[in-house]
Amino acid sequence: MAERSAHEAVTTYFTEAAQLIGLDDELAEVLRSSFREIEAQVPLRLDDGRLLVTRGYRVQHNDSRGPCKGGIRFHPSVDIDEVRALAALMSWKTALVDVPFGGAKGGVQIDPTGLSPVELERLTRRFTGVISDLLGVYRDIPAPDVNTNAQVMAWMMDEWGDLNGYEPAIVTGKPVALGGAPGRDAATGRGCVFVLEAYAEEHRFPLEGARVAVQGFGNVGSWVARELVARGARIVGLSDVSGAIHDPYGLDVDKVLALVDEGATLAEIDGPDHLGNEDLLALECDVLVPAALGQVITDDNADRVQAQVLVEAANYPVTPDADQVLWSRGIDIIPDILANAGGVVGSYFEWSMNIQQFRWGEQEFNERLHQRMRRAYEDTRLACEELRTSIRHAAYAIGIDRVATATRLRGYI
Ligand code: NAD
Repeated sequence: MAERSAHEAVTTYFTEAAQLIGLDDELAEVLRSSFREIEAQVPLRLDDGRLLVTRGYRVQHNDSRGPCKGGIRFHPSVDIDEVRALAALMSWKTALVDVPFGGAKGGVQIDPTGLSPVELERLTRRFTGVISDLLGVYRDIPAPDVNTNAQVMAWMMDEWGDLNGYEPAIVTGKPVALGGAPGRDAATGRGCVFVLEAYAEEHRFPLEGARVAVQGFGNVGSWVARELVARGARIVGLSDVSGAIHDPYGLDVDKVLALVDEGATLAEIDGPDHLGNEDLLALECDVLVPAALGQVITDDNADRVQAQVLVEAANYPVTPDADQVLWSRGIDIIPDILANAGGVVGSYFEWSMNIQQFRWGEQEFNERLHQRMRRAYEDTRLACEELRTSIRHAAYAIGIDRVATATRLRGYI
């Protein structure tokens, strides 16, 4: 079956959920597309003197519920379609967890892995300059995503500040030394685990001893793995872009993390069995956590998934066709807009702290994150019952309804 583009895929979910809540056609037409999109040239001078001309994007999907919010991704797959899809997901996500933001996303079409630190800084500053007119503490606030991190946010904050004046609340996911929030770094992965815990309680599914496979061992995947080990789960498989490692008795996640921190890829780690990335998704396990890129589970491999529950730590890792295959096989999916919303909840805490010039300690941050993620899970569970639908469609229905209500009340149409 021909694969849908990223935007077509998330629009399929949008359309299905919009029908469930009887969204009127005019609002559906407005919310199906983005409010504002920019695509721009981002020239980068490399250390050896060559010029690389890349493309950069910022898409603001909807700002009815507050300033636009969404991460910045540096990856070769970044294009307008992918950024558009990710921006729409941010609107539903921020509404589902009820933080006062709209949805946005941005990125540069580049493989940053071969760039020197100076080239990465130059790229970040150039891109920030390109999109700076769109940004603002009450307009649009970026955060980290794939291949960007706290250091990249520090450069963005500095570059935007040079143009507009010092303003730490212009980005979230900053280093703590620059106004970042202790706990934000772990918030996406930790939030995933808080939601999985709520699911596990409801379904009497013990996390202690559960076998878990995690695809992607970056910010989100590594925190998911660590938090699950702390709850007694066994991480039986891990992967990164280089390949996957497997141990049916449980990998030593701290040891793997220490090696990765020293610069190793998973393919270079001695000891555990090595697998291809595709095989990780088909591993015998109880919980499968895709935490890398989108559209990795398709109708080609959905019938190979062996887990009982799939937690979408990554954004749109499951295509609509695969979603149906998994649904018909009785495999529950905790969808991206619920599972990985801990990141934007943490960003909301950081932004609020910057504006009010105070800071919570990490314990308070985590307790508040826990409350918010539990509430979002409970809201979704109730919507599942009321609408008699999947967790994904219930989560979308809540997000879409809240965004539609705000859009209508503001008199946008
Ligand atoms: P990251 O750059 O820190 O890590 C990405 C990981 O995925 C790396 O380990 C990389 O090697 C791996 N990877 C890349 N291609 C792969 C492939 N083909 N197969 C297996 N692994 C592969 O990124 P991140 O911030 O951890 O983001 C991961 C996902 O979580 C993305 O979908 C992102 O949109 C989503 N997300 C991130 C945040 C956040 O706060 N960082 C918030 C919400 C959602």
